[in-house]
Amino acid sequence: MWFCVYLFNKKSYSFIAYEMKNKCPICKKVFTGRTDKKYCSIKCKSIYNTKLNKVTFNACTQTDKILHRNRSILLEILGTNVQKKKINRMILDFKKFNFN
Ligand SMILES: [Zn+2]
Repeated sequence: MWFCVYLFNKKSYSFIAYEMKNKCPICKKVFTGRTDKKYCSIKCKSIYNTKLNKVTFNACTQTDKILHRNRSILLEILGTNVQKKKINRMILDFKKFNFN
């Protein structure tokens, strides 16, 4: 069940649905609140964001490791003051450059 409020101005009116029963995705508790409220409490919101950050952090860490290794390989082969130079793919394969 949800409640709605109509706000009337002189020129127009707007509709705001401000209270609705929702189910918290973390603790599965039913709660009432604004229509866009997703979690029953700050604690559940914090748990969700912590889990999300952990997953994205792990994915980013692996990608960063690959990029760092590739950059080191290129720096080793090319040196520092090179803007554009062709390198044989076999050399990069030999150094285990990650193309993916
Ligand atoms: Zn909750």
